[in-house]
Amino acid sequence: MAPRTTPAPAPLVDRFGRVHTDLRISLTDRCNLRCTYCMPAEGLDWLPKAEVLTDGELLRLAGIAVHRLGIRTLRLTGGEPLLRRGLPGLVERLSTLGAELSLTTNGIGLARLAPELKQAGLHRANVSLDTLRPERYAAITRRDRLADVLAGLAAARAAGLEPVKVNAVPVRGVNEDEIVDLVEFAVAGGYRMRFIESMPLDAQGAWNREAMVTAEEILGVLGERWRLVPVGRHGNAPAEEWRLDGTPHVVGVIASVTRPFCGGCDRVRLTADGQLRNCLFATEESDLRALLRGGADDDGIEAAWRACVARKGPGHRIGDEGFVRPDRPMSAIGG
Ligand code: SAM
Ligand code: SF4
Repeated sequence: MAPRTTPAPAPLVDRFGRVHTDLRISLTDRCNLRCTYCMPAEGLDWLPKAEVLTDGELLRLAGIAVHRLGIRTLRLTGGEPLLRRGLPGLVERLSTLGAELSLTTNGIGLARLAPELKQAGLHRANVSLDTLRPERYAAITRRDRLADVLAGLAAARAAGLEPVKVNAVPVRGVNEDEIVDLVEFAVAGGYRMRFIESMPLDAQGAWNREAMVTAEEILGVLGERWRLVPVGRHGNAPAEEWRLDGTPHVVGVIASVTRPFCGGCDRVRLTADGQLRNCLFATEESDLRALLRGGADDDGIEAAWRACVARKGPGHRIGDEGFVRPDRPMSAIGG
């Protein structure tokens, strides 16, 4: 008798033909840092616990995403995802779905958790680090925790959460003079450096284009130190990559503002309170938590998910006159 095979799910496709295979899941909107480009010093009004999806609810949605919608990568983020209680247990349950599992974290607590997370089935980690100078780190994040992040990075690599990527947001007058230093640090530590253009997604609404360091500027600075060989993008990945000539090392630049990659976007996002967003910059959400808690079956949730993606717009339009910031900041969406 021929072996029974499960049919591949119909692709999660929008009206522009973009197929969605990547789900970013925010595990909490809370954070233990207060990065100046992300949130105010006093923090935000965190979601009440009752509004946050439970592990069981989250698992059910992730299962529908993988088994019925063709999602292949699950990225855990926040807020700060390491603050989610029982994270290794949740990762272990998510890993049974068979998707690639990665984590985006500020690295605080990773020194302790990295081996457990690896054991639980996490594949990769991205760690945010904007400076190598302790006083500057404290000024940017409003917390004196650089040593914890460096220990977290080393532990991620030792645990095999590879490639370990380091994400930095260069801001003019703050840390743009460390672009080369950060790459040298990453090369020496065996990490992969990526620079992200700052986006108008801070909670305070203080973003301004002049303070953003553009991809072109970043590449200009790197180009003075290394010859850069373009390697392009991996599939629909947001980062464009360059190899430092004569070395195996690669640097990525995520130019969301000046070189938008919306045309190849394959992402959907689930907030910690169970709202599905078809874009980081979407101004509307689909309430999957209400469906879950209202007793909807998997067919109903799948249909709502497909309808949300079908409504996705062509792109984010930052810079256009009609651009409207989303109601939620990055930390509450899941960056
Ligand atoms: N707390 C985790 C962290 O910092 O990695 C995960 C959430 S954080 C919102 C995810 C990424 O978004 C981080 O790399 C952070 O630097 C970046 N980020 C936050 N605010 C941003 C902004 N306004 N523009 C661009 N990137 C931003
Ligand atoms: Fe927290 Fe990440 Fe925002 Fe920094 S960027 S305040 S670490 S959520």
